[in-house]
Amino acid sequence: MRSVNHLANLCLSLVLASCAITPKVAFENYVDTRSKPIRFQEKKTYSFDSAGVYFSNDFNGARLNSVQQLNDSTYRLGIWPENIPINPSPYYAFKVWSDTQQSLILQFDYPDAYRHRYLPKIKEDRSWVAADSISFQQIENQTLLTLKVNSSPKLISAQELHSSNEVYAWVDNLVKGKDSYVQFKEIGKTVLKRSFKVIDICKGSAEGKPVVVFITRQHPPEVTGYFAFQSFISTLLESGQESEAFLAKYRVLAFPLMNPDGVDLGHWRHNSGGVDLNRDWSKYHQKEIKTTVDFISKTLKASNSELVLGLDFHSTYYDVFYTNEERAATHMPNFLESWFSGLEANIPDYEVNEKPSNSTQPVSKGWFLNKHKAVGVVFEIGDDTPRNRIRIVGKQAALSMMSIMNSN
Ligand SMILES: [Zn+2]
Repeated sequence: MRSVNHLANLCLSLVLASCAITPKVAFENYVDTRSKPIRFQEKKTYSFDSAGVYFSNDFNGARLNSVQQLNDSTYRLGIWPENIPINPSPYYAFKVWSDTQQSLILQFDYPDAYRHRYLPKIKEDRSWVAADSISFQQIENQTLLTLKVNSSPKLISAQELHSSNEVYAWVDNLVKGKDSYVQFKEIGKTVLKRSFKVIDICKGSAEGKPVVVFITRQHPPEVTGYFAFQSFISTLLESGQESEAFLAKYRVLAFPLMNPDGVDLGHWRHNSGGVDLNRDWSKYHQKEIKTTVDFISKTLKASNSELVLGLDFHSTYYDVFYTNEERAATHMPNFLESWFSGLEANIPDYEVNEKPSNSTQPVSKGWFLNKHKAVGVVFEIGDDTPRNRIRIVGKQAALSMMSIMNSN
């Protein structure tokens, strides 16, 4: 009898465990985010022995699908997306070197529907340099990079490379010595078994503390959004009056890498399920989103807290804040107006570019609003926004937010 009861209890707990912790959220336009096949790259070194020239995609974050030698010095590089249809973010990253010093012309070749987007960044020694207008040219339909190479491999990438190792190492370093109030913890694994982690910042008791959520890298190539996120989170953790007061009053959940598989696979946009994660905030078919929303739900429930603000850091062609039209029904109806005024007052020559809309598709900002009545914002940084400028915007965004929310 006892063993039957035990079995019944076990079954019950299995059923409960498989239940959705986070209820689905309805959106006007449903997007099918069930997994689709992706095409994996063949990881290899492309060797052109007679020319003594080599290309490699054998590292995390690489994207190079084919290499063809056209003449003595010209090579055509095939760059393909993980699957289609897909947003136009033709990302690439590869290494190139040669036995003897020589000048190469690299011709970027994308599938017909896609045009070149990212100015090449070149890493030599430890620093990244954007290709100049002499070495990089777009002539009619051709995209060409002229490059001097030698036996020391050069890394060429659409944007500065920040794959999972770099991201997690950055956080490890950031939170060092702050163990008493910051936990950087694994809350799940991706489908390809990469670590999925959250930075949980909570000073003192969590009970009843309002929660703020910051996320980034749903879309792998969008590192300028990640740069703003880095500056933003660093500012929260700097010692100072605003920060002390803010962390005494609020709990922070920050997700520094929402798409570890996509980032390490060098994807243009999707995760390993071939899905745009920022369309999955309704039914949570993808593990990354399911893990995130369930962790948020559990955290809120355990401490009787409410989620009041969610910022999702991305990149696009220019700086823009996508906001929700609905303000009055949120936990902080006047936040955005004050926040944007704060940014304009504290950043020289800065004008906020805001585009309010209702989220008809299942995106994060709509989920923050519809599920939690939280203020939800997509914080977009331009692909080419100067990196120093991004750091200033990220810092001031954090300072201004803390100042407003401390006096709420
Ligand atoms: Zn994005």
